[in-house]
Amino acid sequence: VRQHRHGLLVQGNGPLSADLIARRHWNTIIVGAGSAGLSAATLYGMSDPSNTLLVEAHHEPGGCAGYFARGRPRRVHDAGATQLVEYRPGGLQWELLKAAQNFRRDASLDMPRALPIPFLDHWWPAQSPCAQPLGLRWHRDGQLELPVSGLGQHLDGEVLQQLEEFLASCATDAAALWRMFYRFPDFPLHHVRDALRLVRCAWPLDTKVMWIALSHLGSSVAAVAARYPALAHPKARALIDALLLDTAQNHADETPYLAGAMGLSILKRGIVRMDGGMRSLFRPWLLGVRASGVQVAMGSSVVQISSLAQGGFELVVEAKTRFLLRCHNLIVAMPWRTLEERVPFADALRLSLAWQRWQQAARTEHEWQAFALHGVLVGQAPQAIGTEPWYVQVFPRDTDVLQHALYVSCDAEQDPGRALGNETQGPTRVFTASVHTDLARDPRMQALGLGGLCNDDTRAPVQSLAAIKDEMIRRVEAATGLRVAVAELASPRTYERYTGRPEGRVGGLAVRDSTFLFAAMPKIIEGARDSQLVMAGDSVFPGQGVIAASMSGVLAWSRLTGLRPSGHLDLSP
Ligand SMILES: Cc1cc2nc3c(=O)[nH]c(=O)nc-3n(C[C@H](O)[C@H](O)[C@H](O)COP(=O)(O)OP(=O)(O)OC[C@H]3O[C@@H](n4cnc5c(N)ncnc54)[C@H](O)[C@@H]3O)c2cc1C
Repeated sequence: VRQHRHGLLVQGNGPLSADLIARRHWNTIIVGAGSAGLSAATLYGMSDPSNTLLVEAHHEPGGCAGYFARGRPRRVHDAGATQLVEYRPGGLQWELLKAAQNFRRDASLDMPRALPIPFLDHWWPAQSPCAQPLGLRWHRDGQLELPVSGLGQHLDGEVLQQLEEFLASCATDAAALWRMFYRFPDFPLHHVRDALRLVRCAWPLDTKVMWIALSHLGSSVAAVAARYPALAHPKARALIDALLLDTAQNHADETPYLAGAMGLSILKRGIVRMDGGMRSLFRPWLLGVRASGVQVAMGSSVVQISSLAQGGFELVVEAKTRFLLRCHNLIVAMPWRTLEERVPFADALRLSLAWQRWQQAARTEHEWQAFALHGVLVGQAPQAIGTEPWYVQVFPRDTDVLQHALYVSCDAEQDPGRALGNETQGPTRVFTASVHTDLARDPRMQALGLGGLCNDDTRAPVQSLAAIKDEMIRRVEAATGLRVAVAELASPRTYERYTGRPEGRVGGLAVRDSTFLFAAMPKIIEGARDSQLVMAGDSVFPGQGVIAASMSGVLAWSRLTGLRPSGHLDLSP
């Protein structure tokens, strides 16, 4: 991946100048080379590569699931996302990457290797409501393992059995719901024809999906879990909340069942880490998209979008120079917050009412920021560390310094001599520990500009990021039993730089509101009827995570082209 002097990537058959890009009238422009943008671009690579342009502000793909290099010696860290679901033949991520790889003529290209994460480890600090460290393990096959000395003492067989049944039913419902998204009609409805299409879409839905959607539309995860009496046990509830915090960023009472089921279903889909981290996925993916003939402009930031009277859109793009781009259809696969705060729309663009409502809700109720600690763990001996990648969720007390769960993902260090993959098995492990914290609920931290963090005992605000860093190190060491040798804190400001999300705001879809289905993937029509702007990505699509973002990219393509992925690329997860 070389860089043109104008900050643009060199395309397969020669340099692509800003001039050349700007002179063309593109049928489709996709903004953002994160999971959503790359998924859409892959499918355009199959349907209309020569008329499609992908524009990305950074020089590396991946966005929130991207990566960065820091320190001496230089180490590559995953910026946000560290694990993947559905990376297996037939799974969403696998099939998209496979399609992108197929565009490349280099026969030596293997699919990147995935390292299965054998279990998720859950750990509650000693002072937590759960009274003692849990040592709870959630195995790949969906089985729970509870040591008798920990939570096992409190959860009897019936609770465990009902917990597993409940999660299995979430997975079944989620699979049906994911399928439903292919059928989901376009919103907003701007025209009688859209309404007719809505009826047509709803009609052939299979009864099971319809039943799930209708019967659960207004229910929370807690309301559905209440059908399993044993789950009323506070510790079983704590466990469900814990899992939801990671996947839907909310508690069982407040998460609509449809969103929660999708989040909880990841346990059944198989969780992997890419050998070599997320760059092992995103670099080959981007190269595949380029090889398809889709043009790619990296290091190019869209700074303004306006609609044209004759239909279509005009984008002001900033690379080394500023230039104008025009297109018929636009997929905005950058987070809506970024769009709202950094890329002014022309006033004329019409937003759907549902989307405006949802934006308002997200603004007032649901603001998450990311903090992360990137570093290196060392143990007494290599065997103390283990060779498998693992993932641990550390759950604090409600009023703890870091109010929300801390997620530690730990991997073998990469062999610095290798560009991709091949993690070594020496006595050090690279880790990423991240916290998503809910800003809106803690005005004290807003006043400090830190967001969501408070000192648990005195309720006095934490004065410095150094205190947050120390606290995170303490927790990581306690949870892993290893020593943190090197650590660097990524504050929301750092996140802004790594991921392009203003003030490190992550997530986005207000999952408390059951109307989220109607707000998902807003379509904005302006000018000529057929010219459309579709939002994609996890900030406008339920489910969170790389898989949701990818699905939303696929659907954006499907809506704009009227095509559906089929055959080998049957993407229903
Ligand atoms: C700390 C953390 C941990 C996470 N862990 C996991 C995990 O383990 N597993 C999982 O599945 N998910 C995880 N997630 C969520 C996952 O990373 C996201 O859901 C997913 O990456 C979102 O993809 P996206 O394409 O919607 O958006 P993004 O990845 O944010 O992509 C948007 C892209 O648009 C680009 N862009 C922004 N503005 C402009 C502009 N003006 N012009 C051009 N380009 C622009 C950005 O640079 C970026 O590349 C985590 C997220 C965080 C923050």
